[in-house]
Amino acid sequence: MSNWKRLATWKGPIVMLGFGSIGRGVLPLILRHIELDRSRITIIDPSNLSRHIADKEGIRFINEAITPDNYRSLITPLLKAGPGQALIVNLTVDVSSLDIMKLAREANALCIDTVIEPWPGLYYNKKLSSAARSNYMMREGLLALKRKLGKGSTAVSCCGANPGMVSWFVKQALLNLARDMKIKADVPQSREAWGKLMKRVGVKGIHIAERDTQRAKTPKPLGTFINTWSVEGFISEGLQPAELGWGTHEKKLPPEGRRHKSGCGAAIYLEHPGADTRVRTWTPGQGPHFGYLVTHNEAISIPDYYTLRKGKKAVYRPTCHYAYHPSNDAVLSWHELLGAGGKRQETFHILEEDEIVDGMDELGVLMYGHKKNAYWYGSRLSIDEARKLAPYQNATGMQVTSSVLAGIIWAMENPEEGIVETDEMDHARCLEVQLPYLGAVEGVYTDWNPLTQRVGLFAETLDKRDPWQFSNIIYR
Ligand code: NAD
Repeated sequence: MSNWKRLATWKGPIVMLGFGSIGRGVLPLILRHIELDRSRITIIDPSNLSRHIADKEGIRFINEAITPDNYRSLITPLLKAGPGQALIVNLTVDVSSLDIMKLAREANALCIDTVIEPWPGLYYNKKLSSAARSNYMMREGLLALKRKLGKGSTAVSCCGANPGMVSWFVKQALLNLARDMKIKADVPQSREAWGKLMKRVGVKGIHIAERDTQRAKTPKPLGTFINTWSVEGFISEGLQPAELGWGTHEKKLPPEGRRHKSGCGAAIYLEHPGADTRVRTWTPGQGPHFGYLVTHNEAISIPDYYTLRKGKKAVYRPTCHYAYHPSNDAVLSWHELLGAGGKRQETFHILEEDEIVDGMDELGVLMYGHKKNAYWYGSRLSIDEARKLAPYQNATGMQVTSSVLAGIIWAMENPEEGIVETDEMDHARCLEVQLPYLGAVEGVYTDWNPLTQRVGLFAETLDKRDPWQFSNIIYR
């Protein structure tokens, strides 16, 4: 594809933190879509693995780790290099998203990240309770900072594919469902109006249903963790407790389910790692399959956004969680790691675009429990398409980097919004920016439900009266 659209003009400095699989894919999109002077971009990363790309593109590269001790002195001068407002694109692991957002606000810079990441130490601290290691608590920290800072330079939180783009898909899927059910509704203009529409449409729950079929040319060697995006990121979230937005239609907390004692109350956690928690789910390409219930920010922010309350009591909320079937090599990698008592493999490897023989990432939202049963809406992007669209990334990366691009453009167009979650953004504008990079974006109805996906030879305690209870979705 040529004739790519210029979407914005940026005069100030751009500071990219982290240049791993996502950072290196975001860079060409920034250069393609934003009118800027590339000498004003700086990348900071302690690894030189992808430095050749920065060098080839003529971008300044600082080979250093960002730490709690140096982040101010390292980043602030770059933000204040003037003229013009600065932008921070945070695509690191092990760097506190909240501290970077605070720094951005102090310098009146725009900011974007793709997860709420802590400084090292939180994910693997045995002294911390499961609740303290949860994404719920990390999001509560973000919400507290959002309240404290109020309006000011925009900082977009958790703006990758998921969390991120899937929140825009939920809104579009909801409008499509309302249209197909002949429910007359204008595009909601407030959070409450979106919640009311979700309730009217009758959605009981949402899976962020992702099946990655990308396949490497060579089989996975023993002792190597293979993934299509950050191995470190995936291991840390996979070993966090499984978490899910807890819908008002659910009858019974799972035996290992726990509620939080403070905060918005939209989600529960399980006393079990997400990468070892399987759920029944469905995507158009694969049909029925098992996904991992890995904790994700959107599993909390989405159900929170659509909660309707009477006084303090939640009267409507959809259940919501990730149901992720990663690449087959990643499944094998988890099997090996968990079987070894959580011991990490010696080698971590992210599949690059030229190592992949075929496959696609189908990533969408499966909205279930309404009159039309279930509806999957999302992106089905093959590795072949991704290779043609932009350099330095596989199909998974392309879905993430184009979300980051959409978030950057939205922040530039809305520079005074303070901290925002992607649920609060204009989904139509963001998807408009992103659409050229998503392959087929489709809505598909299915008659699947978790009761149709039973092996059937063994006694199981299932709720046959309501197929959409979480007790039917989790596989034991
Ligand atoms: P990656 O592991 O490929 O790259 C991370 C980079 O951060 C590496 O280059 C590493 O050297 C660098 N880094 C590590 N410690 C650092 C430090 N102290 N200071 C500066 N840089 C440091 O990861 P990735 O696949 O590029 O993912 C980047 C981030 O995006 C991760 O946090 C990941 O969880 C997140 N992510 C989000 C989504 C989404 O859809 N929301 C999808 C994929 C990745």
